[in-house]
Amino acid sequence: MRKPVIAGNWKMFKTVEEAHDFWNAASSATIDASKVDAVICAPFLQLPALVEAAKGSSIHIGAQNMHQEKEGAFTGEISGDMLKDVGVTHVVIGHSERRQYFNETDETVNLKTKAALDLGLTPIVCVGESLEQREAGETETVVSKQVAEAFEGLTESEVEKTVVAYEPIWAIGTGKTATADDANQVCQAIRETLLDLHGEEAANATRILYGGSVKPANIEELLGKDDIDGALVGGASLEADSFLQLVEATQ
Ligand code: 13P
Repeated sequence: MRKPVIAGNWKMFKTVEEAHDFWNAASSATIDASKVDAVICAPFLQLPALVEAAKGSSIHIGAQNMHQEKEGAFTGEISGDMLKDVGVTHVVIGHSERRQYFNETDETVNLKTKAALDLGLTPIVCVGESLEQREAGETETVVSKQVAEAFEGLTESEVEKTVVAYEPIWAIGTGKTATADDANQVCQAIRETLLDLHGEEAANATRILYGGSVKPANIEELLGKDDIDGALVGGASLEADSFLQLVEATQ
């Protein structure tokens, strides 16, 4: 039985004060950490304050990106060691917005995933097809290739620690959700790729999330599908109320 994950991706939203407001509203919630991994992935500047606020709660704090090198002359970048140093536990890697606007490639996704695992951070590796690729019938080929390349060289136990997020690009922030059946079909194809490349145990243990216009109204149907183990959520994670409703849907 895989433990579900509900991960909020705040993207480039919220000041420190707004993050505190979220926390004040969220901190009274009782979340059973044995039943769900609830994660908020915030902008870098908010991370130390959120890690502090989250102490004693069941919510984990994650970043939205990291550099693969330990340190060096990489102006403007943040390393996994720096995230670890402030108490972050999760990191989103290869989000489609980073692939689209910041030259993230399958190769850098692989390097970052390995670097995160080496530090004991949980990588949430994002994959997903564009509308054009979906219409050309290429979804499963594209997504399986992204997964194969992201996971290249990982040991079985590293694969199991990694979370995959399937986010069709055309469903992100558009209000268009893939149907639960379509989303499940792609998540199943991802699990088959993991099975072929990394064996049955790793394929069965790895959590695979769906992302793209997830909200309290559609989470239960998505969670009801065999190969969907949770969600990576943008817009609906910005309000404590809706984020907590998504977490509660897993319990
Ligand atoms: P929305 O939930 O706003 O569609 O964003 C999805 C996403 O990109 C999460 O990483």
